Amino acid sequence: MITSPLLTQFPEIMHRFGDKNDEAPLEPLVSMHQVHGVHLHSVQDSKSQEVEGCDALLSSCRDVSLAVKTADCVPLLFFDPVKKTVAAVHAGWRGTVKGMANKTVQMMKQKGSLPADIRVAIGPCIRDCCFEVHHDVANPLQKQMLRWREVLIPHATDKKKWILDLQECNRLQLTEEGIIPEHIDVIPLCTSCRDDLFHSVRRDGDKAGRMMSFIRLL
Ligand SMILES: [Zn+2]
Repeated sequence: MITSPLLTQFPEIMHRFGDKNDEAPLEPLVSMHQVHGVHLHSVQDSKSQEVEGCDALLSSCRDVSLAVKTADCVPLLFFDPVKKTVAAVHAGWRGTVKGMANKTVQMMKQKGSLPADIRVAIGPCIRDCCFEVHHDVANPLQKQMLRWREVLIPHATDKKKWILDLQECNRLQLTEEGIIPEHIDVIPLCTSCRDDLFHSVRRDGDKAGRMMSFIRLL
């Protein structure tokens, strides 16, 4: 079981990042039909459901697991120990370019959270050891992100390719919103490298399974 050392310090939540050997998360469970967008859904009660067309779940309800499915994309888990709010977020490269992490913090602020209180764990995904991208990914990122040079590295031998660090993109976006760097945990595991632990679309193709990560307020 993969957990964040930062989030594990808080006994009032339960969480994990999924690996391919995991059992299903504790029910009731809210999951998403994820669409690589930036729509956030606020969960108001503790019944199991799959929410259509969204990529982030937020809630202050206790005893309900908020789940995110990934297999190379970035799962992010948020916790505000003061407002007692949790969020589970899906950010692939599309969601990252659209500022999914920024939008989640903005929504938490609207609901009364102070950025200085919010903790975030950035989960296992395809990392900069493996994530080669082409101009279709590099160009929109360069347009949207002022600090793209810190996350997009030209490929050593192929001029048409770049190496993208998705976790660092999300970490920078969180700090832009005022999250304290010490309150961000980055799990240093690559879904593509670690065949023993993870499904990976890049490695296994479209038939790849998905891992389910979750966070739950107790
Ligand atoms: Zn890798």
